[in-house]
Amino acid sequence: MEEKIVSPTEAAADETASEKSRGQELKDLLFYEQKDAFEGLTKEIRDAAQAFCVPYAKFLDAAKTEREAVLEGIKMAEAHGFVPYTFGQKVKPGDKFYINNRGKSLHVFVIGSESLENGIRISAAHVDSPRIDLKQHPVYEDTGACYLKTHYYGGIKKWQWVTIPLALHGTVCRADGTTVDICIGEDDCDPVFYITDILPHLGREQSTRPLGTAIDGESLNVLVSASPFDDEHADQKYKLSFLAALYERYGITERDLMSAELSIVPAMKARDIGLDRSLIGAYGHDDRVCAYPMMLAAVEAENPVHTLYAIFADKEETGSDGPTGMQGSLMTDLFADLANTLGANIHKVRANSKCLSADVNAAFDPKFSGQFESRNSSYVHRGVVVTKYTGSGGKGGTNDASAEYVGYIHNLLTREGVLFQTGELGKVDAGGGGTVAKYISAHNIDTVDIGVAVLSMHAPYEVVSKYDVYETYRCVKAFNEDV
Ligand code: MN
Ligand code: MN
Repeated sequence: MEEKIVSPTEAAADETASEKSRGQELKDLLFYEQKDAFEGLTKEIRDAAQAFCVPYAKFLDAAKTEREAVLEGIKMAEAHGFVPYTFGQKVKPGDKFYINNRGKSLHVFVIGSESLENGIRISAAHVDSPRIDLKQHPVYEDTGACYLKTHYYGGIKKWQWVTIPLALHGTVCRADGTTVDICIGEDDCDPVFYITDILPHLGREQSTRPLGTAIDGESLNVLVSASPFDDEHADQKYKLSFLAALYERYGITERDLMSAELSIVPAMKARDIGLDRSLIGAYGHDDRVCAYPMMLAAVEAENPVHTLYAIFADKEETGSDGPTGMQGSLMTDLFADLANTLGANIHKVRANSKCLSADVNAAFDPKFSGQFESRNSSYVHRGVVVTKYTGSGGKGGTNDASAEYVGYIHNLLTREGVLFQTGELGKVDAGGGGTVAKYISAHNIDTVDIGVAVLSMHAPYEVVSKYDVYETYRCVKAFNEDV
């Protein structure tokens, strides 16, 4: 097509023409122009987002495992007057409760002023993140050092976890029945741990392997100590030296490690990324980047109309199994308990409930544009992502929210001026993934995924937009408050 040459007088005449052509009018009516980055993000909103992400960064540093996130969540809830709940207890509108489920998932709820049969406003996010767990017999020594055997947790690219500073977090039950929480590598005075890699000079064979096999699972052995115990009569002096240090610090023995939950996570702290300070890098944005704003929106609610319920779920990264995963029955047990106490029909309660499953989506990365479909991907700085369906290979394993429910959410966000975008996880058949959405909607509850677009998802250090975090908070707040 040739370029049309417009004379200055023609251009001036065009600008003064007030009437649009039929085609222009129709285009305005029919087209949906996807929102651009920063669109509608006023200076006021951007400033608020910057302030919002200061405590978010602290939360990230304090909560690197689901157990730590639960403790931080309880602090947030208690600061807003929430108290522990006991099944069967009396409740009234305005009451605020939480349930700490085995220290690994947190359920927070506020009783609304309207009938429970009008439904509960649910928001769900997970607080476990991909990491490297210790095996049950982890400690061994080899050639002048002590190492820990591991079994990775969730979907990691194993080669990303070598040669970075690592911390050890977890819970150990001692033989006397007491338990102790462990955290080494987060305090600036602490040592950190490390997984070695072969030097490039000798990595010729390794570099010919496909990336996914360059570092194999059984080689993710963590270097934790490299001095012998000072006793010439002792056997396995390097292992002994490590266990002696651990015993001195925590009073635990090798026997106690057999039952422990110990995880290796990146020792890096959350930092602003870029001179403009619009992005945050951190370990475990997936899914604390949704969990934090969601929990805040719930605990800040005072005398809501709807009953509000928010959950920090565990085990999402490995399939939501177990009593603390979203396939566990505690959420529906609680709803049944409340229905019973308040004289509501539990089937009506569930049928009229609505849920935001808050989890991350993959942000379009121009370096890897071949794995995305640009018209349907989510982008950094374009607001909260509404993900109608997840899944893989022909939408396998997806909740796929209804037109009516997604339409309701889009209309709500438009009305409230929340910047939102749609998002599909990569191009068709590039891979895929799932969330907790399907485990909630299975209880006859309308559910849709919303959340934040993440760059380098599941890497030891992930990146998100501060503005998207804040728009996610505004999204959940609008959802909770909509009557
Ligand atoms: Mn997630
Ligand atoms: Mn994930």
